[in-house]
Amino acid sequence: MKRNSLVFILPLLIFAFTVPKLKPTVRGNYPSNYFQAPVAQALLLAGTFGELRPNHFHAGIDIKSARGVAGDAVFSAADGYVSRIKVDKSGYGNSLYISHPNGYTTVYAHLDKYNLELANYVKAQQYIKESFEIDIYPSHDKFPVSQGDEVGKMGNTGSSNGAHLHFEVRETSTQNPLNPLLFGFRVVDNIAPKMHALKVYSLNEKREELGAKAITLVKLGEGYKVKGDTVLLDAGQTGFGLKVYDHFDKVSNWNGIYELSTYQDDSLVYDFSLESFSFDESRYINAHCDYEERVTKNSYYNRCYALPGNHMSIYRHKSNNGVIDLQEGQTSRITMVASDVAGNSSTLEFWVKIKPNASILAQPVLNQKYNYILPFNEGNMIRTEGLYLHMPPGTLYEDLYLKYDVLPERSTGYYSNVHRLSDSRTPVHEFFDIGIRPTQSIPAELKPKVFVAYCEGSRILNCGGRWEDGLLRAKVRGLGSYAIMADVTPPVIKQVVFGQNMKSYQKFSFKISDNVATAPNVEELNFDAHVDGQWVLMEYDKKNGTITHRFDGVITPGEHNFRLVVRDAVGNETVFERKFFR
Ligand SMILES: [Zn+2]
Repeated sequence: MKRNSLVFILPLLIFAFTVPKLKPTVRGNYPSNYFQAPVAQALLLAGTFGELRPNHFHAGIDIKSARGVAGDAVFSAADGYVSRIKVDKSGYGNSLYISHPNGYTTVYAHLDKYNLELANYVKAQQYIKESFEIDIYPSHDKFPVSQGDEVGKMGNTGSSNGAHLHFEVRETSTQNPLNPLLFGFRVVDNIAPKMHALKVYSLNEKREELGAKAITLVKLGEGYKVKGDTVLLDAGQTGFGLKVYDHFDKVSNWNGIYELSTYQDDSLVYDFSLESFSFDESRYINAHCDYEERVTKNSYYNRCYALPGNHMSIYRHKSNNGVIDLQEGQTSRITMVASDVAGNSSTLEFWVKIKPNASILAQPVLNQKYNYILPFNEGNMIRTEGLYLHMPPGTLYEDLYLKYDVLPERSTGYYSNVHRLSDSRTPVHEFFDIGIRPTQSIPAELKPKVFVAYCEGSRILNCGGRWEDGLLRAKVRGLGSYAIMADVTPPVIKQVVFGQNMKSYQKFSFKISDNVATAPNVEELNFDAHVDGQWVLMEYDKKNGTITHRFDGVITPGEHNFRLVVRDAVGNETVFERKFFR
């Protein structure tokens, strides 16, 4: 576009901006009248699709309960059949999947309970499998449902902190989640995304960060700007990050945006939209966001340039990978546009030019101490006297300048030196292998009790462990300090509701806990409950460590013997055994 034609178009553009809605960029073609809302009340959202969360992009929408408590009826969004029922002590809690004839599956998670027919089936399956957690795929003719059938009640089960319905729409064939708001659900949204801060990254030609600074934004009318209009850059190559959230009418939640586009002068250099993704790629969130901000300040910036190892599919334009390339003396206008599905959008506009005498420009390598360079696109192996490390390709998002230290450790409970591999501010995508050699002989009775410990601050995480060639080996997914430790402390059982005379009670419950947390790939604290030698169902809510048995006819009136065994990851056991009257 020629400069002089702008003069005539500008007044028209200003007029055009009073038309409030833009159409969101959508590749697929989704039915907008097929699904009804899964709840009776107006849809108020506490979370949106693609929202930035720890280690994942949020795969659905979070619908608020009408009164902030569990119990709202949850309805099938359309005709179909129950294709999966999963009961999980964490994650989705009690969840239900309904497959529809149009090729989509809807998912309802954190349910307080299932409807009576499903609840009876679930309980029967739990007794058959002698397990609270189940994951069942009923055949298509077992539980047909009609649109609007009540399938359960809204709840707070699994990894949820407050009663809500986590609702997803998936493509049945791939199980890829899609943005539910593209299916015509009525959500009132007249509020544009709010921009909070800009981050400017000075990069070298390998897209490695040489330095970064956060810049406060100023709201100006409908748009945003930076103080003084111009950002002075420290390097010729620059990337941007933006902290931005969407907001809806009648709720105070900070939700995720749908789309973010970055323009240099008039050309689009980087753009992503949250229409769909696959669960396999959800962990690329750790490359998408500024991971260090996330782990040190719990703050989420959308990175608007690609880290070399980020292979997520949400990016539509990656001209020069989103990196702004500037010559000394050159000035460019940067425009960033954030929008939601309803088409409300916010614009940030500023100018960039290179700071005179920018010292960082000539700096060839990262200004940090390291003893290994691990290329992100290759497998990497390190073998020393005390450590074995193997990272498959795809573990890292960019080359790692690894600082590796060995710290002698003689405290009680430690059986090796502490091996410090950089620190937890660098994200890791895939699991990698680590092996540690003990520095003292481990007594035979302690051999089953040792594990590879991830020690960050005061936190100790059991990453598992198996012996191979004199090394204790484990698969781990984080950088930081590792050592061999032993755990001989048995789990703790606390009575919450239990007594000798249970005649007037509806349930009994306990809290179970352990001194060492476990990594997600390691078997966790587990339990077995028996009454008179028969397995009994206890519902396990991992977030508060509560296990509960509800009297439902399985335990008949009379005297009974209750026995609860709780085991931690290395096999330490605590037993609670009492008689009670029902
Ligand atoms: Zn959710």
